[in-house]
Amino acid sequence: MTARTESQHPTCPDCGWPLHRPPETLSRHRTSEGTVVYTRCVCGRVRAWLEPVGAIRLLGGA
Ligand SMILES: [Zn+2]
Repeated sequence: MTARTESQHPTCPDCGWPLHRPPETLSRHRTSEGTVVYTRCVCGRVRAWLEPVGAIRLLGGA
C-alpha cells in the first residue's frame, strides 16, 4: 500500500496519472496569470491546467 501526499500535484481523475508528468504535451500558452498547458494523458484524455506564475521555479538567470 502506498501512502503518498500528492496534494501539490493533481492526478488524472480517470487513471490516476500525475498530471505534471504527461506522456505527451500538446501545447502551452502563456497568459497573464501563468501558463496554460494542454497534455494528453496515458489514458488518452486531453487535460488542461494552469501553471500559476508564482509556482514556477526559477532555474537560473537574472
Ligand atoms: Zn488519465
